[in-house]
Amino acid sequence: MLQYKLSYWERETFLKGFDVAIIGSGLVGLTAALHLKAVRPDLRVVILERGALPAGASTRNAGFACFGSTTELLEDADRYGEDTMLAVVEKRWLGLQRLRALIGDDNMDFSMAGGYELFTDDDEEESVFQACVDRLPELNAKIGAITGHPEVYKIADDQIARFGFHRVRHLILNQPEALIHTGKMMATLLALARAQQITIFNGIAIKKLEDSAQGVELETEAGWTIRVPKVLVAVNGFAKTLMPDVDVTPARNQVLITHPLPGLQLQGGFHYDRGYYYFRNIDGRILLGGGRNLDNAVEQTDAFGPNELIRSALVQLLRTTICPGQPIEVDSWWTGILGLGPVKKPVVERYSENVVVAVRLSGMGVAIGTLIGQEGAEMLL
Ligand SMILES: Cc1cc2nc3c(=O)[nH]c(=O)nc-3n(C[C@H](O)[C@H](O)[C@H](O)COP(=O)(O)OP(=O)(O)OC[C@H]3O[C@@H](n4cnc5c(N)ncnc54)[C@H](O)[C@@H]3O)c2cc1C
Repeated sequence: MLQYKLSYWERETFLKGFDVAIIGSGLVGLTAALHLKAVRPDLRVVILERGALPAGASTRNAGFACFGSTTELLEDADRYGEDTMLAVVEKRWLGLQRLRALIGDDNMDFSMAGGYELFTDDDEEESVFQACVDRLPELNAKIGAITGHPEVYKIADDQIARFGFHRVRHLILNQPEALIHTGKMMATLLALARAQQITIFNGIAIKKLEDSAQGVELETEAGWTIRVPKVLVAVNGFAKTLMPDVDVTPARNQVLITHPLPGLQLQGGFHYDRGYYYFRNIDGRILLGGGRNLDNAVEQTDAFGPNELIRSALVQLLRTTICPGQPIEVDSWWTGILGLGPVKKPVVERYSENVVVAVRLSGMGVAIGTLIGQEGAEMLL
């Protein structure tokens, strides 16, 4: 990291007079900034982002506007209690509606294409599927009450042949699940922020923050500091580096995109193995990611980078199950960082007198992110 001292001009002209600083320009940071300006247009808001672009999960995800597939929700209900599971689903659903209202469906190619959960011919998966089927009416009643949809989940085995899968024995369709174009969502949010005179500085990594009666002093990796009255920390999976006592564990995800595949039939979002794997069609290509459960200890990191074990498992899944018998070439790979915790519940809390933290989105941040940004902004106000 380049180390340098600020000039008089830089200090006095560019970095003075802000009322609020937000650390992180992901979905949470941007929606928080927009909410602050909507409620208090007089506030001078600055976003400090260490990447040239937002560089965490918000520009690197799969674009599933999802609120939970059957195995995930039933597992969450068993592990954390049904009330906790339903409360999180409600927040995801509400967050999605707020995202849509803020951005507009057309500006992020929002399409309610449905989400499918796959179960292969493995004996264990057959019994997991049967357990889901037994609990489907109850789940439909409860999730239907949140989403207003009469039949959220339904068995869709008749569609397996249409998608051309191999070894897949069952599908459960989540009808109101949607897909978005992640890049367009983030580009729209950045444009909205600039239109509201929110200052965004890229290439500023915050190393340390210190709250006192004089406000919050933010020490940058470059060696200089900036002082602001109030701060919102929206760094999700990177929170531990900045605030070691906040309970967030980073989790890296490997993602691939293929070259365009002529005649690709996939429509909708697809989940496999309790949500550990996900894939979709984007621009006639397959985007496939996940598999961190294959190497959990290594993937518990906030450093971008490949994991060859997981990458070869993803390619294998593509070749044997998703697109059997087709010549497939991977165009490129990337990684993104999630923020997880002991429960699938975000942390929105006052960290100190003038600092609020809004992190730990636990995987379905596209849905819940806007709500968490807005809740963080409200707490700061
Ligand atoms: C590969 C992948 C696929 C996913 N797919 C989906 C999906 O399909 N659907 C879904 O709902 N969710 C998905 N998610 C999760 C979702 O993307 C996240 O929950 C959400 O984007 C988190 O938003 P955020 O603003 O909290 O964090 P981020 O987007 O990670 O933003 C945090 C920002 O803080 C910046 N930052 C970090 N530390 C510092 C520092 N010290 N100083 C300054 N800036 C800093 C980072 O550069 C980053 O831009 C996926 C995540 C990954 C990684």
